[in-house]
Amino acid sequence: MDRSKIVQRIKHLTQGAARSRAQRGAFAALSVAAGVAAVWLVGAGWPRVALASSDDPPSSNEAPPPPGDVPPPPEAAPAPGRRDPAPEPPPRRTYRCPVDGAEAAAKGADGRDTTRRDSDLEMPTRAYSNLVVVCPSCGYAAWAGEFERMPPPEVADYARSTLKRSARSAGTDAAAAYQHLMNVLHVRRADFTEQIAAALYFTYVLKRQRPYGGLDPALERKIVAARKRTVGLLNRALRDAPPKLLHARLEWTYLVGELTRLGGDTQSAATALRGVCEQQREAGFTMGRLACEMAQRAERGESWEDFRDGVFDVRGIEAAERDATRRRAEVEKERAEAERAKAEADKARAEADRQRSPAAKSGSSKGTAHAQLPNQPSSTDDPYAPPLPPVAR
Ligand SMILES: [Zn+2]
Repeated sequence: MDRSKIVQRIKHLTQGAARSRAQRGAFAALSVAAGVAAVWLVGAGWPRVALASSDDPPSSNEAPPPPGDVPPPPEAAPAPGRRDPAPEPPPRRTYRCPVDGAEAAAKGADGRDTTRRDSDLEMPTRAYSNLVVVCPSCGYAAWAGEFERMPPPEVADYARSTLKRSARSAGTDAAAAYQHLMNVLHVRRADFTEQIAAALYFTYVLKRQRPYGGLDPALERKIVAARKRTVGLLNRALRDAPPKLLHARLEWTYLVGELTRLGGDTQSAATALRGVCEQQREAGFTMGRLACEMAQRAERGESWEDFRDGVFDVRGIEAAERDATRRRAEVEKERAEAERAKAEADKARAEADRQRSPAAKSGSSKGTAHAQLPNQPSSTDDPYAPPLPPVAR
């Protein structure tokens, strides 16, 4: 099954999916880079045949132009004469692994196994699902649409020799699932578009793990690394296999800029974003507007991003790490002090016990036991005291 089929399936799966307005609202503030990824997926080479489907709302191919906006660029219009895709079968609960025949389930970037869409994965009118299937037995991973197709032998071998070790966790954990997919695509030498898609979705999976109202420095470091990886792929792709369409190149450049900005390098980001902003007409309304907005942020040196329930800034990671280290040190110090206090209390109690006991009473003269009068019996318990002389008569 080729990618156009996948896109068709995805379209089919997602068209009927109910979208919760509340959720969309909640996620509306998510990173713009995330939103534009969907633009990019269309422009970067995901075949448009599915998008030209007659039952698609016309707006699904391009962000709806608001009144007065420039019309969509000509290359974004569906080419005439493309076949109408046949409807895809409805989603299935399980898939059969082509490597070892085990049953596997699909997993989305939201960690769920349904085809319900994530609103942060789309521009308002664009719909892409992101289901990946990982075999819980051998660890082979692929997009849901092509999972059951036999992979090249080197990929099957790679699954059996390497992916198998983490197959179980990848079967249940979305982040691990996408990591498997990225590895498979790498081994398979999949084209840049596909690799970038997986890398990008991986960043979404990680973003989903952000704690509410808090910041997990280790997770943020992972997100930064995943974004850098995506930017690396995008830059290589722009250099070695740039998309033919200007619109697509602008989308890729926008993503490079925005992900670079979120990584903290606002200077490089500003150059890329400003370049897209200057070609606003070619970029289309939504991306053009975002590019200008983000270019301004970058030019002001701002690397922050809105997300689910707050604002994150990559520059906050180090401070958060310092805080966490300080808190750990404080807790450790308190614990040590508590232990010391307890040890002292124990010692004092033991001493008091000794004072009270009859043995301790004579024990108070412990050091002078040997200096007692020879005929005075002693009940000293000092084991090192010299033997008592015989009692004089
Ligand atoms: Zn398998």
